[in-house]
Amino acid sequence: MSDCIFCKIVSKEIPANLVYEDDHVIAFHDISPTAPVHVLVVPKEHIESLNHITHEKKELLGHIHLCIKEIAEKLDISESGYRVVNNCGKQGGQTVGHIHFHLLGGRQLEWPAG
Ligand code: IMP
Repeated sequence: MSDCIFCKIVSKEIPANLVYEDDHVIAFHDISPTAPVHVLVVPKEHIESLNHITHEKKELLGHIHLCIKEIAEKLDISESGYRVVNNCGKQGGQTVGHIHFHLLGGRQLEWPAG
């Protein structure tokens, strides 16, 4: 998707502070962090949102979650705990139309979400 900001990060057209990359996934620090650790974990393939996931993407979604676990270990928030968030659609608060998972940690997170 030529106008997708996360596709441009995947293709290195625009820079990002990467914390992880493999053939299918890229992860980078959020530009406007809301916690001491705020990383976005993103499939390289352009998929708009969780609404657009199909059964063929089951393995990719599982892989993303294994990546999240590894990144949490790397950033030393495994023991203290962390939150994984996917915002889907307008009322879900999604602002970038390329599916991504927020990995948040490094402070006590409140619940319920706003
Ligand atoms: P959403 O609101 O769940 O769609 O999350 C989008 C996230 O992308 C927000 O937390 C933004 O701060 C973040 N973001 C937008 N543009 C960039 C960028 O260029 N680099 C890193 N993070 C970005």
